[in-house]
Amino acid sequence: MELIEIAETKDVHKQRGEIVFPVKVPFVDLRAQYAQISEEVGKEVKGVMERCDFVLGERVRDFEREFAAYCGVRYAAGVSSGTEALHLALRALGIKAGDEVITQANTFIATLLAISYTGAKPVLVDIDPATYGMDPEKVEAAITERTRAIIPVHIYGRPAPMDELKKIAAGHRLYIVEDACQAHGAFYYGAKGAERVGGLGHIAAFSFYPGKNLGAYGDGGAVTTNDCELFKKIRMLRDYGQQVKYHHQMKGFNSRLDTIHAAVLLVKLKYLDRWNTLRAEHAKRYMELLEGVPEIELPAFKIEKDRSHIFHLFVIRAEERAGLMDYLSDRGISTGIHYPVPNHLQKAFSDLGYMEGDFPVTEKYAEEILSLPMFPELKYDQIKYVAGAIRNFYGR
Ligand SMILES: *Cc1c(COP(=O)(O)O)cnc(C)c1O
Repeated sequence: MELIEIAETKDVHKQRGEIVFPVKVPFVDLRAQYAQISEEVGKEVKGVMERCDFVLGERVRDFEREFAAYCGVRYAAGVSSGTEALHLALRALGIKAGDEVITQANTFIATLLAISYTGAKPVLVDIDPATYGMDPEKVEAAITERTRAIIPVHIYGRPAPMDELKKIAAGHRLYIVEDACQAHGAFYYGAKGAERVGGLGHIAAFSFYPGKNLGAYGDGGAVTTNDCELFKKIRMLRDYGQQVKYHHQMKGFNSRLDTIHAAVLLVKLKYLDRWNTLRAEHAKRYMELLEGVPEIELPAFKIEKDRSHIFHLFVIRAEERAGLMDYLSDRGISTGIHYPVPNHLQKAFSDLGYMEGDFPVTEKYAEEILSLPMFPELKYDQIKYVAGAIRNFYGR
């Protein structure tokens, strides 16, 4: 996703007949990460090729065990993507046509797609203007007799207000499915103290898309839960509905995590906390260097508690965003927008009947948000260069 955005920005400039400046600060740099771990990854991938256990092999089980332990949950099941993780989680909970599932208007489209796959109807709510996360009051107001589940998204890497949402869910007998696709390793500091995301609701979904904080070398995902029955269902659903080969208990899917990806993820998991800490340090630098520019709004976030935000994305809001993006692009700085079109205004979901004006915060923010370069290997000089360019643009 991110890499394509970089290419698109360049193409637009080429079409305009402008000089394309070399990228000085990419949006993400997966090659820099690979350089650190190439030997370990190479050995692991070779091991899979030698064993030839490509589907649900040894490293899938190893990774599931390690990832569950990392998240502080009993069970993890590797699946083929984050979208499939959400889809199968909803299926395992028995969500079906006629049901409603509440999620937030500013999430990535996959959250809505997964709900649709079950036949249920996505019901959207506007976001908390300070956190960009789910607004519990809005959720309460959106509950009907058809509501079966809530999907809070730990958007940009910051955990949703789980204590408040859990209270609402318990009061209405609703399931909570965490969309943790942007938040691998983030801690939620709530009533029970520090807890990793992934075990905060009934079931959770992770994506291992290459650009995520923990990424495979292709598509991948995982479902985590503390519920043994749900875990067993997920394992059947991802594997043609079978527990014993050729004995199909339900209409399942082919939605498994490849062993090669599990092997890569096992290597990377060891680095994840370090990488997340680096991201938070970069975020802190951005905040310091961009303070006092009235044209931009920084994340309303103090980095006090360890990994309470793991900055999958560093998102500011900017006046004259298009002009700023161009200005940065001309100086070799790649940026992104997550996401430019709110879900309720996407053509694919016009059947939901939403209109412009339904979710004013999400709509306003879609016009203003800008994601700055963010990846663990980012250098201090690069952060200074980005911040300096932004200050220059506004003459500050
Ligand atoms: C990436 C993402 C997904 C989907 O994950 P894929 O692995 O790309 O299918 C779902 N929800 C959110 C919030 C995401 O960022």
